Amino acid sequence: MTVRTRIAPSPTGDPHVGTAYIALFNLCFARQHGGQFLLRIEDTDQTRSTPESEKAILDSLRWLGLDWDEGPDVGGPHGPYRQSERMGMYRQYAEELVAKGHAFYCFATAEELDEMRREQQARGETPKYDGRGLLLSDEEVQRRLAAGEPYVIRMKIPEEGVCVIDDMLRGKIEIEWSQVDMQVLLKGDGMPTYHLANVVDDHLMEITHVIRGEEWINSAPKHLKLYEYFGWQAPVLCHLPLLRNPDKSKLSKRKNPTSILYYKHMGYLPEAMLNYLGRMGWSMPDEREKFTLAEMQEHFDINRVSLGGPIFDVEKLSWLNSLWIRENFTIEQLSERLHQWAFNKDMLLQALPHAQPRMNTLSDFAPLASFLVSGMLNVAEADFAANKLPVDKQKELLQFALWRMEALRTWERDEIFNELKLLAEQMGIKLKDALAPIFVAIAGTTASFSVMDSMVIIGPDMSRARLRHAVNALGGFGKNKQKDLEKVYSALGQTTEEAAPDA
Ligand code: GLU
Repeated sequence: MTVRTRIAPSPTGDPHVGTAYIALFNLCFARQHGGQFLLRIEDTDQTRSTPESEKAILDSLRWLGLDWDEGPDVGGPHGPYRQSERMGMYRQYAEELVAKGHAFYCFATAEELDEMRREQQARGETPKYDGRGLLLSDEEVQRRLAAGEPYVIRMKIPEEGVCVIDDMLRGKIEIEWSQVDMQVLLKGDGMPTYHLANVVDDHLMEITHVIRGEEWINSAPKHLKLYEYFGWQAPVLCHLPLLRNPDKSKLSKRKNPTSILYYKHMGYLPEAMLNYLGRMGWSMPDEREKFTLAEMQEHFDINRVSLGGPIFDVEKLSWLNSLWIRENFTIEQLSERLHQWAFNKDMLLQALPHAQPRMNTLSDFAPLASFLVSGMLNVAEADFAANKLPVDKQKELLQFALWRMEALRTWERDEIFNELKLLAEQMGIKLKDALAPIFVAIAGTTASFSVMDSMVIIGPDMSRARLRHAVNALGGFGKNKQKDLEKVYSALGQTTEEAAPDA
């Protein structure tokens, strides 16, 4: 048997460091067994998936130096590797399960299901689909189908007993069937859910080992049952521990930047980044801290993964990065890296249109543009004090602007401007006064060129990180204050995207 593993990201946001970590372990496991590693895009959620996000995921995994044998960009014998291009395939599998008596049609409307959940809650039960579709007779089902009534297809779930998941790392995990919902497989619009598409594709793509994050453990009973219903061999399951913030909470962008692109723009080296991700719950047999991807592949042993919740600590990453910079690069190579990274014509062409009108001599350029190639700026309360608004109000505005920028899906000048303008209006603040603290957060000073243009150049990840950094430089918000703030924020009203008629 050839070992085949995969990474199956959903293109619904920034490329997450967690995706790279899971991809790395899948790659090493496959390579170590002389097998193959593939990449599949799970974009069945058409409203949240975007081509920009898919591109960012592929680009950032490649930037890290990860390589796949089959995927949407490289092709392969089991394609297409994008679920949106496989949409025609899934219905027949859902219908096959209905024919075999393992799945059923459900015609319940959203209102009916809401009512069902309300009643269950009123009785103190955990809301759960009650199996009402199973009560319909065959004739009734046929009549409703013929009448064109909307429906979903759900899978049957045993009423009692436990599902035993044999996890490569965790041993036997038991989940009671009573805890598992009769999962929708095919939605009302004819689209498959993640569960159906994931199982069908893993089977058709001949995946032998599913190595994924522990947040998917609760889906495993449904998946194993589907393999059984289809009569297919299930892959070996392995749930890796989730990455955590230094305070042990789940790695989240509220506390730490999680986008790979942020780390790229910060000037971390892909080699060091990959090395650090390789140390998440795993170590080399000789415990050496610095190693290459090739070394990791050579010595990889999944049984050495510890389940203790690996901490993704940016300071540790910086330390490792510094080792790489000092020990693995000649001056010549480092100059080449800096050139590739940002000191290049591309950067000049982006910055010069804004700098030119402000330049008397060429030497004016570096101070004008240095913030574009910097990491976090050294801003403090004094930098904000000269602005019109009281510093506390500025801090609040920066937090709101950050939330708005996190929700923004298209990172373009006009979109950013409209969002900030709307926010200023909703807060009853003059646009100029609202932009001043954002200027300081993004460029370190209000005497810079347009803050919207700057944000476009430094990109969404760095922009958000600098806004967050500025909020923290102004003292941040305590837990209680944060809660109050969320209330004030939601009372402000909709974002431009929510207000758009087609949103
Ligand atoms: N599309 C899922 C994700 O976004 C894949 C989960 C899995 O590996 O089964 O992570």
